[in-house]
Amino acid sequence: MNHQTSQIPKLLVVSGPSGVGKGTLLRRVFAESGLPLTMSVSVTTRKPRPGEIDGVHYQFLSTEEFETKRNAGEFLECFEVFGKGTWYGTLRHTVEKGLAAGNWVVLEIDVKGAKAVKEQFPEAVLLFIEPKNVEVLKERLLGRGTETEEAMQRRLATALEELKHAQEFEHRIINDDLDVAVKQFISCILTP
Ligand code: 5GP
Repeated sequence: MNHQTSQIPKLLVVSGPSGVGKGTLLRRVFAESGLPLTMSVSVTTRKPRPGEIDGVHYQFLSTEEFETKRNAGEFLECFEVFGKGTWYGTLRHTVEKGLAAGNWVVLEIDVKGAKAVKEQFPEAVLLFIEPKNVEVLKERLLGRGTETEEAMQRRLATALEELKHAQEFEHRIINDDLDVAVKQFISCILTP
């Protein structure tokens, strides 16, 4: 697919519960949309998982380093996503630099972050990715096996809580059939 990219760069905010397959969906959208999409790399205080690279998947910081940036007002939004002192945030600079370069900047952040971004960038397009049902989500989260039981339960609780906010998003995409979801996502972001 190759679309006219002469449109104004857009800020796209993608939310949805952990385990819904946002990463896989976004990789397909990046490969197939023909748009100059760029992922905003978030900052987090969580420890890297095996295979995660600093500066690529996240910028991994200590709680103190994160706090310093927060106090300096460097974050467009930041939240303690799963409780227990794990912080995630989007740097203002990352978004502004991406848009200034003519890219469409994609933020993959939680629902609280999405609302905070929308308040500051009313033109941002908000997309919510949903599972077919809660059972599918539970299976995917359990199957991941990268975390402790306690961390998993916290993620599940957060995921169920996030699902309640789906109706606040402009676009809702059910990630059941991946091909359909990819097409739907691209069509949503190309809507003027
Ligand atoms: P992970 O599985 O990478 O530990 O956590 C991902 C969760 O944190 C996802 O729900 C994602 O949406 C959220 N998240 C990642 N980066 C950010 C961010 O910069 N800001 C906010 N508010 N949430 C984020």
